[in-house]
Amino acid sequence: MEEILTNSFKLDVSGLLRGETRQVDFDVSVELDSQDFDVTFPRLPKVHGSVVNMSGYIELSAEISAEYETSCSRCLKDLGETFTLSIKAPVAESLENMDNEEYIIPDNGLIDLSELVREALILNLPMSHLCREDCRGLCNKCGKDLNDGDCGCVRKEKDPRWAVLEHFFDEE
Ligand SMILES: [Zn+2]
Ligand SMILES: [Zn+2]
Repeated sequence: MEEILTNSFKLDVSGLLRGETRQVDFDVSVELDSQDFDVTFPRLPKVHGSVVNMSGYIELSAEISAEYETSCSRCLKDLGETFTLSIKAPVAESLENMDNEEYIIPDNGLIDLSELVREALILNLPMSHLCREDCRGLCNKCGKDLNDGDCGCVRKEKDPRWAVLEHFFDEE
C-alpha cells in the first residue's frame, strides 16, 4: 500500500511504524516563519521524498529546494538564489535504545516536514553571499558601487602592517 501526501506538512507514518505500510511518499510546499531567516522566500520551499520501511529499518529520504532572495554582502545588490539539499535520516519510534540525535522521531506518528525543512535551511543556508567572487563592494567614503567604476575617493587600504605606522603619524 502506498500513500502520497500533498496537502499537509505533517506526514503520517503511523501505518509505517506499525508495519502496515511499506512506503509513504510526499511532495509538499511548506510554510516557514520568516522571522527565523534573514533571507526571504518568494515562493514556498518545497520538499519531496519518501519514508520507506525496509524490514524494520525505516528511512526518510528527501529533496529540499528553496528559492530565496538576499543581497550581496559587499555591494548590497539584490540576489536571487536557489538552495537544494538531499537528506537521508533514519526514523525511529522512540530513542529508548538508540543514543543518536540524527534520528527523526515522529510525534504521535507524524513527521513535521516543515520543521525538517526549517532545520535544514537554518543549518545549511550560506551565511553570506556575493554577487560575484570579485565584487568590489561599496566605497566606504561615498558609498558608490565600485563595480561600476572608481569614485576617485582616497581610501585607506586596511593593511595591518601599516596600522602601527598610521598611528605613529597621528600622534605627531
Ligand atoms: Zn556585490
Ligand atoms: Zn568614494
